[in-house]
Amino acid sequence: MTLPLPHPALAATDPELAALVGAEEQLQADTLRLIPSENYVSRAVLEASGTVLQNKYSEGYPGRRYYEGQQNIDKVERLAIDRAKALFDVEHANVQPYSGSPANLAVYLAFADPGDTVMGMALPMGGHLTHGWGVSATGRWFRGVQYGVRHDTGLIDFDEVRELALKERPKIIFCGGTALPRTIDFAAFAEIARESGAVLVADVAHIAGLIAGGAHPSPVPHADVISTTTHKTLRGPRGAMLMSREEHAKALDKAVFPGLQGGPHNQTTAAIAVALHEAAQPSFRDYAHAVVANARALADELLARGFDLVSGGTDNHLILMDLTPKDVPGKVAAKALDRAGIVVNYNTVPYDPRKPFDPSGVRIGTPSLTSRGLGTQHMAAVAEWIDRGVSAAGAGDEDALAAIRAEVAELMAAFPAPGLSA
Ligand SMILES: *Cc1c(COP(=O)(O)O)cnc(C)c1O
Repeated sequence: MTLPLPHPALAATDPELAALVGAEEQLQADTLRLIPSENYVSRAVLEASGTVLQNKYSEGYPGRRYYEGQQNIDKVERLAIDRAKALFDVEHANVQPYSGSPANLAVYLAFADPGDTVMGMALPMGGHLTHGWGVSATGRWFRGVQYGVRHDTGLIDFDEVRELALKERPKIIFCGGTALPRTIDFAAFAEIARESGAVLVADVAHIAGLIAGGAHPSPVPHADVISTTTHKTLRGPRGAMLMSREEHAKALDKAVFPGLQGGPHNQTTAAIAVALHEAAQPSFRDYAHAVVANARALADELLARGFDLVSGGTDNHLILMDLTPKDVPGKVAAKALDRAGIVVNYNTVPYDPRKPFDPSGVRIGTPSLTSRGLGTQHMAAVAEWIDRGVSAAGAGDEDALAAIRAEVAELMAAFPAPGLSA
């Protein structure tokens, strides 16, 4: 298949929009995509997301709907639920949350009342907005108390987390985050949650695919609730799931519907089912382990080029670079790398002296490039491009960025992306 992909009906009805989709396909094909929360879904997942399941209203759950005509939809949702339960080895799965943020909001609805104390990792330390950060509804409607990482190690200090939990007695403790390069110790969090009487939620949005593929320890049986998006390392459509033991099934289901949402997005449920099927194949285990091997190799190559990595490296798919020693602000570097065909995001680093909209760091990850088949043997080239790109950013050398862009496109052409190729 050559780009742009054929979308004949779209092209005939709305050529303007079709052109934008085609341009995005080309951009995703040509660039080195290093944003750790992104990926490439398969053609099968794309096809499932574009089906007539979209046309159906299905408020309720399989066998208990408020609308008739669910002969097929019930089976689709049951398939997704059964596959989630089998893949993650959980007793209960809800596949209806529209995305990760609403999934987390449903957890609050299930286990806390407005004004209650909740605990999570602070956003600038690597947590997520929905873990009780001030600007989020979760930080406005609940009393969010926040833990971080140690300044010297970049790692979570469990003595500090325990002290905070025993002092504040939160109803819910969230672990997991968006910029955590190290393995999450679910057992340590579970012990603290037990001691303080809190419900432990493992938000594994970033690492769900690594867990499914056996490349990161599972939060089962430690966490009371597992929240995850389906579109990051899990390589499914944009969506989310909540999983738990049977004991919490009712509370979670009631919170998602009718507590927070109306009708589920059945086309997304179908695509989640497909992604879970793909993630259950032996090749997905290889993928998950390759993501981690690539990240480790890339971290080593960056360290060898004088980059400062938060926590000194990575255990998973994600690397957080502190560019302070390079004397280039994160945003300047990110925008320059974008012009060089390397797509990253600027990010705060723990104890960042700069402002969140203009921070010191850049966050990168290996899920997308691994989906294209790049291996550890390519990570020296990737690190070299980043190094040259950051230097060019500091020097304002647009010619150097253009040269990198051409080299990147040449390598990417040799590794067609899932979903963008036949
Ligand atoms: C991505 C993410 C979310 C939110 O997911 P959205 O689908 O963007 O709403 C929640 N928690 C964590 C840890 C995440 O990484």
